[in-house]
Amino acid sequence: MKTEQFKKRLEEEKAKLEAEMASVGRKNPRVPGDWEPIPSETGTEADLADQADVVMSRESNIAILGDLEARYDTILEALKRIEKKTYGICRVCGEKIEEARLGADPAATTCIKHR
Ligand SMILES: [Zn+2]
Repeated sequence: MKTEQFKKRLEEEKAKLEAEMASVGRKNPRVPGDWEPIPSETGTEADLADQADVVMSRESNIAILGDLEARYDTILEALKRIEKKTYGICRVCGEKIEEARLGADPAATTCIKHR
C-alpha cells in the first residue's frame, strides 16, 4: 500500500491539532507528551459573575483539550504504524483496510466491516 499520501495527511492533521491544543492548553511540564488546560487567573476577577465565566471557560477548555488529545493520540498511533509497516491493517481481522476508508479517515484502525 502507498502510505505516502496518508502520512502527509496525518502529519498535517497532527500539526493542526498541536496548534489547536496550544490555544486551549499547554504542554504539561510534569508529564511529557501530556497537555493540560491553560490555568485561569484566580483572584483578579472583580465579581462573582466574572469568576463563573472563568470557571466555565476552564471547564470547556478541559473538554475541548480532551477531545483534541484523544484525536492527537490516534494520529500518533497511525504514524507509528506507518513506521512499523503495519499501517492499513485491520486490528480485528488483520485484513487490509479499504483505501476509501483510509481516505475518509487516515487514522482508521479497522476495516469497514469492523468499524
Ligand atoms: Zn476487519
